[in-house]
Amino acid sequence: MLGNFFKRDKWGKRNIEKLFHFLNEGIVVQDKSGKIVDANEAVVKLIGLKNTQELIKLTSREVIKKFKITNEQGRLISWNQLPGTKAIKGKRVSAVVLRFTNSKTGLNRWVDVNASSVYNSFGKVVYAINIFRDVTDKKQKEQDTLFTNQLLQAQGEATTQGILAVTQNQKVIYVNSRLSQIFDITINHLGGKTVKDLFYVGHILTLDYQKFIVKALIVGKSKTRKAKGTLNIKNGKIVTYYTVPVLGVDKSFLARLWFFEDKTSEFKLERQREAFIGMVTHELRNPLTTVRGYAEVVKNQIDKGQLSKVDSYLSRIIQQTDKVTELVNDLLDLSQIRTGTLKLTKEDFDLDKLINNVVEDYKRITTNKFHKAGSAKKTIYADRSRIRQVIVNLISNAIKYSPAGSHINIAVKQNKDTTSVSVKDVGFGIFEDDKQRIFELYVRGKKNTKNTPGFGIGLFISQIIVKGHGGKLLMESKVGKGSTFTFIIPHNKNQNRKD
Ligand code: ADP
Repeated sequence: MLGNFFKRDKWGKRNIEKLFHFLNEGIVVQDKSGKIVDANEAVVKLIGLKNTQELIKLTSREVIKKFKITNEQGRLISWNQLPGTKAIKGKRVSAVVLRFTNSKTGLNRWVDVNASSVYNSFGKVVYAINIFRDVTDKKQKEQDTLFTNQLLQAQGEATTQGILAVTQNQKVIYVNSRLSQIFDITINHLGGKTVKDLFYVGHILTLDYQKFIVKALIVGKSKTRKAKGTLNIKNGKIVTYYTVPVLGVDKSFLARLWFFEDKTSEFKLERQREAFIGMVTHELRNPLTTVRGYAEVVKNQIDKGQLSKVDSYLSRIIQQTDKVTELVNDLLDLSQIRTGTLKLTKEDFDLDKLINNVVEDYKRITTNKFHKAGSAKKTIYADRSRIRQVIVNLISNAIKYSPAGSHINIAVKQNKDTTSVSVKDVGFGIFEDDKQRIFELYVRGKKNTKNTPGFGIGLFISQIIVKGHGGKLLMESKVGKGSTFTFIIPHNKNQNRKD
């Protein structure tokens, strides 16, 4: 109760006392020694005390001991930095925001403090009056907004989408860094830039940019329209966009948000898949037509009792069906890789024998000259038919991408833990810009595949098989000189058992 201070003073009237009693603001009066001589109920409530008696007679130093008081920057306040202490020295202190905490009572309050001095007739400071206002809610809202902003900022930077926020008159108010990456534009500062300014790259707007900007201008003004679409942008990327208006609670237009996603690789993959399906259908139909043709010839010949050429036609039928089977097997492997069901069934086997068999098979159908160096003295523990598949793929590529009759060298090396097999040809070699991607699915060399059939699946599957064994598949190549593909796998049972 603000009794004592006002009774002692000449304006200590009852109505003033009542007024201070009902004020929402907390009031604390200190004498010139810093001791609290009066305080109202509001302040007691504000800083979580039971009654004014708990405050009366406390000095500034004791107040500091009772509460942890920090400023807006979180720094601890000492007794002589308190607004009241300053007011005792004749300084007016206004709107200082302090935080009162007390871990014992759980107090956590933000308070706005104003302090001023009361002088006697000789001009000497006799009291300091502190006025406290609770600003916890306001402060909490500020913190919430700050947090939301930080969160949005972090989200904006973490997302793979480019984000753009634009006002109704096309002023850009927010962009994230992904946006500049997608569009290859440098955004130093927004400073009142419009959408057009932002996308006006190199002084030329490509057709799609123009379409986009026209759309941005039309849609941008609408309070309701949502839109989505695809842009082919100047840097060769394919970008999809989605836009929505953002309205305030009063339904006023705050901004329009644009989200962009770089879909270039998805589109490319989709195009490759389509091309691949086209090729596969073609490759399946051709041998089937041929097989049917040969089968009819064979049937006619049997009908006529002319069996002399039947044997060669049947061999061609077998060759063609092998081709189809190989392709269908590759497709099956791909689907197993996709579904994660490509399993390796490992056993101990003789790698040398396997390589020799494969080479013998090829010798029968090609004019290439095969040389084998080194051998696998120890049996290896791996999936026999999958390792055969890799070797067949590497040898058939060596044949495919080399002149007819050229030399193919196969080298086998074994040390304590690993076995490596390399297949070296003296063929066309692989161009630098193809090298990086030939292990990817559906990717074929752009320059060395003109007259060779293929789907760009073999190396992809081979790499998966080798990796599945805990090994690696390497490539070395020089255009015009030839290529060497080498796979290295651990060969001991305990080493690659987990696969
Ligand atoms: P495909 O041979 O059906 O195209 P692969 O996945 O087996 O598919 O090979 C991918 C690409 O790697 C080939 O298209 C070719 O450009 C390149 N390539 C593979 N092996 C060789 C090789 N021995 N010599 C030159 N280029 C090769």
